[in-house]
Amino acid sequence: MGKILGIIGGGQLGMMLTEAAKNMPLDISKIIVLDPTENCPAAKVGAEQIIADFKDESSIRELAERSDIITYEIESGNSTVLKNLESQCEINPSPETLSIIQDKFTQKKFLADNGIPVAKFTDISSKNDLDSKINEFGLPILLKTRRDAYDGRGNFKINSLDQVSDALHTFDGKSLMVEQFVDFEMEVSVIAARSTTGEIRTFPVVENIHEDNILKMTIAPARINQEISEKAKEIAYKTMEVLHGAGVFGIEMFVTKNKEVLINEIAPRVHNSGHHTLQSSKTSQFEQHLRAILGMRLESTDLIHPTIMFNILGPKDFKGRYKTPKINFDNAFLKMYEKTESKPKRKIGHINLVDQDNIGIDELLVNMNKLQKSIIIEPNGTE
Ligand code: AMP
Repeated sequence: MGKILGIIGGGQLGMMLTEAAKNMPLDISKIIVLDPTENCPAAKVGAEQIIADFKDESSIRELAERSDIITYEIESGNSTVLKNLESQCEINPSPETLSIIQDKFTQKKFLADNGIPVAKFTDISSKNDLDSKINEFGLPILLKTRRDAYDGRGNFKINSLDQVSDALHTFDGKSLMVEQFVDFEMEVSVIAARSTTGEIRTFPVVENIHEDNILKMTIAPARINQEISEKAKEIAYKTMEVLHGAGVFGIEMFVTKNKEVLINEIAPRVHNSGHHTLQSSKTSQFEQHLRAILGMRLESTDLIHPTIMFNILGPKDFKGRYKTPKINFDNAFLKMYEKTESKPKRKIGHINLVDQDNIGIDELLVNMNKLQKSIIIEPNGTE
């Protein structure tokens, strides 16, 4: 009998984990996801679903009772409840690691305490604290909410002193931190895996291009030299050595103009910037995550073909059912997430454009640009 895997979250990441479990000779007999959206993407590809909020205690308990192993595809689960369930059910990455990562300040402190490079930061609890840190770090400065922030929501870039009151007012009642603004040359990330056996493997460093704080495109491999690439990999490896628990982690970093590499943040889960691995690599991040939490040998992370991943977002001007776009482009792989409705800026799919003909990243970018323009998300009037 295979193991039953419980996943907190059943969005696109849960969907692709479920598909990986079905397609690989892995020891998983069933997947149950906990997600508030009825018929969530993972349920559409065969996962059973408990319909409830990610933080709902009794539903997390039910998931633990029905599963042999629990993992997550979102970081906003209830780490306190998960900690109490550890004796009953294997949970990976560890709830302790999840709780460190859930709070941006404790995450940064943990990294800094372990000698891992990050931008200057501190927690703040008053306007006086903020004023004094502006004096120390200079402007611009980033005011960040410590918890439940993603895709840049929860960040306020303060450019001048007259924005201070506005910034504080925006996050009234929230616990806050500030961070020195990094004038970065590039944003990169490393998808890293650690198995329950302690084995660690990292995928090649990729370059991430954001628009309005949302990942727009990932270029694999990143257009950086060997030295920076080694630095980023070393930092990722060191991070994996100090974090407890097993699984795949998405480690986002800045490459500064002085060629320093600093961690921006860690996601304790498979990551959008690792979607290229579905076509570019021998092993996808989804299979690697399952291998890691099942204590299997990790697979090769070699990049077989350079690849550009492009996120398909819901158009700004409409919400509702939509027609699946058609693509007719060489070496392009479309993955839609089966979300019933498109919402503005919601991730509804992605495309991997694979350099199977060795044309090089520059040409591939030109093609991606053309392909991107041909993708139009339109309302589906017939449904
Ligand atoms: P976050 O949600 O904190 O990862 O931030 C979202 C985006 O904001 C990042 O991908 C960066 O583009 C930008 N950002 C976050 N922190 C900083 C920083 N300290 N300096 C410059 N840009 C930042």
